[in-house]
Amino acid sequence: MNSTENSTQNSTENSTVNDDAVIAEMTDPYVETQEFPGIIYPTSVTATLAAFRRAFPAAARLVPEEDDGAAALSVHSRDYVDFVKEGTRRPEGATKFPLNVIALPELRVSEPRTFEGRHAGYFFDEVTQARPAVCEGALRSAAASRQGARRLAGTVARDAGRPALVLVPSRPPGHHALPGVGGGLCLFANAAIAARELSRGGRVAVLDIDQDHGNGTQAVFYDDPSVLTVSIHAEGWPHVAGFAEETGGPGAPGSNLNLPLPTGSGFDAYEPALETALEAIVRFDPAYLVLALGYDAQREQGFGALRLESEHFGVLGRRIAGLRLPTLVTTEGCYGYYESTAEAAGFFFDAWAEQWR
Ligand SMILES: [Zn+2]
Repeated sequence: MNSTENSTQNSTENSTVNDDAVIAEMTDPYVETQEFPGIIYPTSVTATLAAFRRAFPAAARLVPEEDDGAAALSVHSRDYVDFVKEGTRRPEGATKFPLNVIALPELRVSEPRTFEGRHAGYFFDEVTQARPAVCEGALRSAAASRQGARRLAGTVARDAGRPALVLVPSRPPGHHALPGVGGGLCLFANAAIAARELSRGGRVAVLDIDQDHGNGTQAVFYDDPSVLTVSIHAEGWPHVAGFAEETGGPGAPGSNLNLPLPTGSGFDAYEPALETALEAIVRFDPAYLVLALGYDAQREQGFGALRLESEHFGVLGRRIAGLRLPTLVTTEGCYGYYESTAEAAGFFFDAWAEQWR
């Protein structure tokens, strides 16, 4: 599918902009064709879009733009962005996956001479693979995240005082991607890209409710006092970050809040952490909220690291919407169990819509 076809298919931009212009959905025609073999499926996008459309039937639909990596460059290094762009041009099957090598500094004797060699230096785990479709999706999701942020900022300027919501159904996900390194199936840090764009217009809070720590988002803003990053997650992945004592760099003390929960925690343990997160966001008094929405805290999704029921996503939706902040939502983890994803997404967006009614 080329971009002309995309534009034709999505030529409805602005056609539904009316009293509901405060709510917009950012679609990406490529996401539903991507596969992460055995691990992440596009169902989180399908489910989140269906739930969002049901809750907000008059939402405007935006046309995704291609930007040749410009949005990704707002938080990632040029060499890494160039590597991902190179990944889009590789013929499918040309790269020998799995690589089974992670190029830790001590291992590196010579500069890598192949795509595989460079790949080994750009990802911190083996499951993240720069396949052509994944790289293409990453570039589009990054562009959509920035485009969605611009739309959110523009909408708020137009409708001051009204709540606004933009959904970016981003695939691949993003919150594990660091400025120069990807991992955890994430190539570009979509939530961070949106937050960076929104921070041009005021302070931004990022709330990450994926089951796993938002280590990439944290890394991007660790020393930036204009962005508060908050993550509620099961203790564990990615094992080397996500601890409570990580509270921000020397230039931004207190700008990062990690709320790790014991493995296997249910909503009784989750809810106080959510309240702590929301209180911190209220204290920070941001102009915008970016929500990194994973569904893997649902008990069937994330291998039991957290054990929320689907209906608890309704509580999450109601409480977060209750902040009454202009909000951009990116999608994070989901492990392929369609019904539980659809349920959780349904509870979440229905509650959000109810809160704003
Ligand atoms: Zn996750």
